[in-house]
Amino acid sequence: MRRAIDLARQGMSSGAGGPFGAVVVKDGEIIGEGHNQVVGRNDPTAHGEVVAIRNACARIGSFSLHGCEIHTTGEPCPMCLGAIHWARISRIYYGFSITDAAAIGFDDREFYRQFTLPLAEREVPCAELASEEARELLGEYLALPGRVAY
Ligand SMILES: [Zn+2]
Repeated sequence: MRRAIDLARQGMSSGAGGPFGAVVVKDGEIIGEGHNQVVGRNDPTAHGEVVAIRNACARIGSFSLHGCEIHTTGEPCPMCLGAIHWARISRIYYGFSITDAAAIGFDDREFYRQFTLPLAEREVPCAELASEEARELLGEYLALPGRVAY
């Protein structure tokens, strides 16, 4: 966690983004690290956890981080929590909570709330379109030879 805090501080002071750093740890060793780069890269997905996951996966040559931990300065937002699940990370440690982050203007708490609402009540409208054609992709994908499950 101290390395994640150092990374966050580096990112903040360089103007890359907010106070968010993260490391991915496997068997007690850091295999990936990152800090928030939303401002520096003009990339709203460049949160510390996502950057650290990408770094770890590139380093080990795998899309699975099963058995790994992530240490992140801030409690993960919904996007990062999703990325953590997709990466199959096994444990999360965080420094400050989303309530702490909300106090300095970050929206994580509101995004979590949005996801609890029925589709029709969410701030961003969401509706099906060309569903039949899109569903054909599912069967086509299942029939692909050499398909890698993830
Ligand atoms: Zn995030």
